[in-house]
Amino acid sequence: MSCDPAGFAGRVIRWQRTHGRNTLPWQNTRDPYRVWLSEIMLQQTQVAAVLGYYERFLTRFPDVQGLAAAPLDDVLAQWSGLGYYSRARNLHACAQQVVQLHGGAFPQTALVLQTLPGIGPSTAAAISSFCFGERAAILDGNVKRVLTRVLGFGEDLASSTNEKQLWCHARALLPARELQENMPRYTQGLMDIGATVCLPRNPGCLICPVQTQCTACAEGRPEAYPVKTRKLKRGAESLWLLHARAENGAVWLQKRPTPGVWAGLYCLPVFASRAALDAALPQPVRGNVREVEPFVHVLTHKDLHLHPIQAMLPAGWSAGEGAWFGAREWPGLGLPAPVRRFLEAV
Ligand code: SF4
Repeated sequence: MSCDPAGFAGRVIRWQRTHGRNTLPWQNTRDPYRVWLSEIMLQQTQVAAVLGYYERFLTRFPDVQGLAAAPLDDVLAQWSGLGYYSRARNLHACAQQVVQLHGGAFPQTALVLQTLPGIGPSTAAAISSFCFGERAAILDGNVKRVLTRVLGFGEDLASSTNEKQLWCHARALLPARELQENMPRYTQGLMDIGATVCLPRNPGCLICPVQTQCTACAEGRPEAYPVKTRKLKRGAESLWLLHARAENGAVWLQKRPTPGVWAGLYCLPVFASRAALDAALPQPVRGNVREVEPFVHVLTHKDLHLHPIQAMLPAGWSAGEGAWFGAREWPGLGLPAPVRRFLEAV
């Protein structure tokens, strides 16, 4: 397993200049607030999905001070639909720490950035290399794929020892000079190769800038890398959603408890069984509900089978925690994507 670091970094940098992505809204800036926001939004989420959210979020929270001072509900509302809501809660907590502990300026090294909520080693390195030219290695899922293939690294990444070894290789391949110019370009180049060329299936080896250095390509089996044996165990859960409506069109929403699915978001009341939902309704309403076609919402670890039940309730009705929200109010709240889609559809 060998790869000439200078040759590798040089190829990645040159290719990025002419073939990489250079016009995304979070590029061509060294503002750590903007870079950090894009890196968090792009975790587990495609570029196309992030574009609209990024612009809207920046309009609402133009700087870290504004984000830190905003109520968490407002942040969740802006995040609504992007999924993985712990990212939004961490984003808010991180902004507050940047203001309170760092005087409103993001730390400039990956080591210190990692101490902030929601910033892992790879995200920290992306921020510090993009904004401050630090010689720090990223290793997100796409980059792991590129590097394991280039290096022919066939060790099982389910083992933390092997993953640490790959981190060492990633550091050894970093550019060694002109870091202010080269580090952002190299980091972006690796991301771009992973996202647009070295795809999980049918990688574009013929157009890849590091093909001549790539072990997996020479072996003729790029898809054999990376090796990771531990499979995610998927589960399934059924939930019943009470779509309680008042005669004036208002809908009853409750804030979801933390921790748990959709923590901190506004949601239709959720029940673990149909019987539990029925028990929450007044006796005369129970026999007068409407069952809506169930639908499945896919989370990372499980499929949620959602069963909405509609009921008309008097405006004075209350299901404990929560409140009635009119048709002009609920669209502005932070709602789970499937609940928002359901409410919009009905
Ligand atoms: Fe990936 Fe092929 Fe490039 Fe190797 S040559 S890094 S397998 S696209």
